[in-house]
Amino acid sequence: MKSAIAIAAHPDDIELMMAGTLLLLKKAGYEIHYMNLSGGDCGSTEHDAADIKEIRLAEAKNAAQILGAHFHLPFCNDVQILYDVKTLRRVASVIREVKPTIVLTHSPEDYMEDHINTCRLAVTASFARGMRNFESDPLRTVDNYDCTIYHALPHTLRDNFRRRIIPGAFVNTSSIQETKLEALKAHRSQQNWLDISQKMNSYLQAMEDISLQVGEMSKVFKYAEGWRRHLHVGFCDADDDPLKDLDNDYLINEAYEQGLDKI
Ligand SMILES: [Zn+2]
Repeated sequence: MKSAIAIAAHPDDIELMMAGTLLLLKKAGYEIHYMNLSGGDCGSTEHDAADIKEIRLAEAKNAAQILGAHFHLPFCNDVQILYDVKTLRRVASVIREVKPTIVLTHSPEDYMEDHINTCRLAVTASFARGMRNFESDPLRTVDNYDCTIYHALPHTLRDNFRRRIIPGAFVNTSSIQETKLEALKAHRSQQNWLDISQKMNSYLQAMEDISLQVGEMSKVFKYAEGWRRHLHVGFCDADDDPLKDLDNDYLINEAYEQGLDKI
């Protein structure tokens, strides 16, 4: 069975930008996996780090269950997701265990360093999947297989210089928007925190708004998620694009493709 993994920084990041695609991949026959690198220890104004981590672990496990995804434990703390060898070995171990055909992760440009570093870790861990002299922690069998990486849009749909990020492809999430919302609702502890820290009136509304905006960008779908496919070198064949398994729910953005120099 083919598998797909979403690797994000914090509990609720997958639900905000990636969960629709993950759900559709499950419907298309993929085994799906869910991993946040951080336990979310800073996401509270009322609980101490140990308490909020416990609360958020339960919430994230619940969200993964709603999505029907295999859950992988977090092992970092907020604003401490660093691109270092210790973390890389941990991420590589999960990649080697899951052997994903598809890796969904953050945009290389995003509003928060945790997201950027998670993206870099996911990319390098995937790149090193077949390198026998790179040790994962814990150790796993090394294997070379084709693996395609897709980057989600940044949360603001912009880079840190305020420029719009244009997706290379869209996934129609209209049919599973309800389930995506249910999974996001599992992160109940985040309502107050996001109100205060990021002036998000409602994180549920924020997800709805982003999905509608990306849908509008697609000019076809009501709700959508946007993706940019990573350069194939070191991962797969040049034309590999396994999100095509989503058939009519996958739409390549021709304007983006035409803007690329021929490889
Ligand atoms: Zn995040």
